[in-house]
Amino acid sequence: MSLTVAIVGRPNVGKSTLFNRLAGKQLAIVDDTPGVTRDRAVATTDFAGLELKLIDTAGFDEGAPETLAARMTAQTKAAIKDAQVCLFVFDARAGITAGDEILAAELRKSGKPIILCANKSESRAAAAGELEAYALGLGEPIAISAEHGLGLSELHDALAPYAERPQDSSQADSEQSEAQRPLRLAIVGRPNVGKSSLMNRLLGEERALTGPEAGITRDAVLAEWRFEGREILLHDTAGLRKKARVVDRLEQLSVDSALAAVRFADCVLLVMDANMAFEKQDLAIADLIAREGRALVFVANKWDQVADRQKMMKELREKRDRLLPQVAGAAIEGVSALTGEGLERLMPSVIETERIWNTRVPTPALNRFLEEAQNRHPPPAVKGRRIRLRYMTQAKARPPTFVLFGNQLKSLPDSYLRYLANGLRSAFDMPGTPIRLNLRASKNPFAE
Ligand code: GDP
Ligand code: GDP
Repeated sequence: MSLTVAIVGRPNVGKSTLFNRLAGKQLAIVDDTPGVTRDRAVATTDFAGLELKLIDTAGFDEGAPETLAARMTAQTKAAIKDAQVCLFVFDARAGITAGDEILAAELRKSGKPIILCANKSESRAAAAGELEAYALGLGEPIAISAEHGLGLSELHDALAPYAERPQDSSQADSEQSEAQRPLRLAIVGRPNVGKSSLMNRLLGEERALTGPEAGITRDAVLAEWRFEGREILLHDTAGLRKKARVVDRLEQLSVDSALAAVRFADCVLLVMDANMAFEKQDLAIADLIAREGRALVFVANKWDQVADRQKMMKELREKRDRLLPQVAGAAIEGVSALTGEGLERLMPSVIETERIWNTRVPTPALNRFLEEAQNRHPPPAVKGRRIRLRYMTQAKARPPTFVLFGNQLKSLPDSYLRYLANGLRSAFDMPGTPIRLNLRASKNPFAE
């Protein structure tokens, strides 16, 4: 039984691009002119094991906001009616517009399950739009890029529960699917540190190489296996598969090519040569991982060549915290891909790091923290007026992302933000995870 999915959204947000991406064929016409997708396109497709019947909608003309609802085409309404699940696509670069809000209201009225997709999220400008989307009250948006094929695994995971249980979408189910979400793992690092050797070790016993027939989201998956009941997907974005066959000594892993791997992953293994760890390129890649908000485990490889291991580990930890304060406390595992030493600690460390990355802190606890942090170390005064931090709440996990409300926040020094981020890490036991703090120049929205 296929799952009927309507792709809805304002013109130009990328519905047709997503449709084509999922359908794997150029069925819908994609054009830069708003409203170009005139007719309703339908395609059945196998989205990595999910049988989908996709309906692309004609959208609606965007005019003056007060007439928008009236202009929503009959096709869009019919598509929503026919669908079992609606993918509500918005342009994360553009943020939430009046048109999005009207569509959201229409979708909510339909009572259909809605999966909110923040498209064009490969753009740096998308983060603010993703955050704005919480105001729609449709839950956490999935960051995707229809054009670049990013976030498709998350989308797959969000759709899967409906395919399995078409009539039932209770809270318990979605919590369960969250727990069973596969963990996407990537291996990155400079050339010659032992990435391929490590991969071969990891896959040694639990090899389940996936072929090209495995489907869209599995394109870049090199292997999948289970660890302590958790599905692990290892991505081949660092070109390891090619490497494993043809050993190319000239391969240069630039920070750029690491980017694709990092974006694909939940958790990134940054492999270093223990005797030459935390050099310039290691730092650049670690910083990239932190900026992308991924969970990070440092692998100090070639541990067999380290004479005084205790001393070495102490040095590595010191370097990590001094050179990479943004991931202070992140796990470092000393391993040898050659002898297999220390490898038994690697996957437990990955699982734990990902758990921390998933942390959710209740709002009352956050606000107690905020008050104490300000008492201990008040924010500076600007032009005689003290900066006030009034309220904090967690917008999302993966990575933990907080919204801070207050006045004169533009003048808040970076050092104070670092103080808060470090405080959050230690108060709520989140070592090593990237933390995001978004500032909102407004009062506590829940004060009244
Ligand atoms: P529709 O009107 O909602 O069906 O939107 P289209 O699929 O026709 O896309 C509108 C424009 O957005 C086209 O120029 C696409 O190439 C572009 N687009 C679609 N998805 C993405 C994306 O993920 N990132 C970026 N940067 N552009 C995208
Ligand atoms: P990659 O370029 O990062 O994929 O690195 P490779 O896996 O190709 O390894 C580079 C070299 O380091 C090879 O000669 C490996 O045999 C060697 N190597 C990899 N892991 C270890 C290790 O744990 N200990 C030692 N002594 N050598 C290793």
